[in-house]
Amino acid sequence: MRIVLLGAPGSGKGTQSKLLIEKYNIPQMSTGDLLRAAVAAGTELGKKAKAAMDAGKLVSDDIVLGMIQERLNKPDARAGFILDGFPRNIPQAQALDAMLARMGQPLQLALLVDVDSEVLMKRLTGRRTCSNAACGAIYNIYFSAPKTQGKCDKCGSSLSHRSDDNESTVRSRLQVYEQQTAPLVSYYKAQGKLRTVRGVGSVNEIFKNVTDIIEVQMRPLAAAMSAANAAAAAKGGGTTPAAKAAAKAAKAAKAAKAASAAKPAAKTPAKPAAKKAAKKAAPKKKAKPAKKAKPVVKKKAVKKAAPKKTKKAKKAAPKKKVAAKAKKKK
Ligand SMILES: [Zn+2]
Repeated sequence: MRIVLLGAPGSGKGTQSKLLIEKYNIPQMSTGDLLRAAVAAGTELGKKAKAAMDAGKLVSDDIVLGMIQERLNKPDARAGFILDGFPRNIPQAQALDAMLARMGQPLQLALLVDVDSEVLMKRLTGRRTCSNAACGAIYNIYFSAPKTQGKCDKCGSSLSHRSDDNESTVRSRLQVYEQQTAPLVSYYKAQGKLRTVRGVGSVNEIFKNVTDIIEVQMRPLAAAMSAANAAAAAKGGGTTPAAKAAAKAAKAAKAAKAASAAKPAAKTPAKPAAKKAAKKAAPKKKAKPAKKAKPVVKKKAVKKAAPKKTKKAKKAAPKKKVAAKAKKKK
């Protein structure tokens, strides 16, 4: 599976990424790690990157993409990857798409771990760390406060507050994130690849939702692959039971897909409600530039309203595609 992870600092995206790596046995690629590895290994790209960094310049997108491509060619990335921290803007996302298309490995999912900005603020500004390096216990004054204020439960040492965890620094970090990510969210949404998981609750609850999303997103692809395998087997004169079973499974998957595709039509009566919601939410958004709870309202309304807008245009298209595919196969 090929996934881009999106999420604010403090969203818990990193934790989810680790769990995904374990569960699906695919590598995570963060640009920082790739850079460090390439520079340490002294590869061509690593040398270029080092030259740029030594000159106090940013490492160009071309170099970063080259590193990603090299990493993707390693055997452990055959089953997919998780990209974290890249892309950060639309040109990078487009360049990544172009590269993955050339490699025949298009992105399958952009997963956004979504957390309200007020919760993020508390998570980031409330963090306290035990000053005893040998202990290193971590607390949060809002969510997991120590029994005695300012003292570590485990060793009694004083707790320290990182200077970059202060409110104004955190707020500006979150604003930068918001500015960078909002266009990417739209970009992947337009591609139909964006899925959002609420990043609140226990780590395991969130992970359950993440894997549910992945299973749903990957299933049609798995079905398409097994159909392709079955077709290949049939071409090769393979009438083995396995090939037959694969063909049968592909057929069943197609039928299931058709059934699920038919469902949205039943939801049509909900349209006016979505429209109302969108209308209601819109003026609110304009009235106050303040953040807080508003983006949530906006997001929900947009989500509800989105299928309505595209439904008419899209409805006919997939059917045609399916029909075309079916013809090809026959
Ligand atoms: Zn301690």
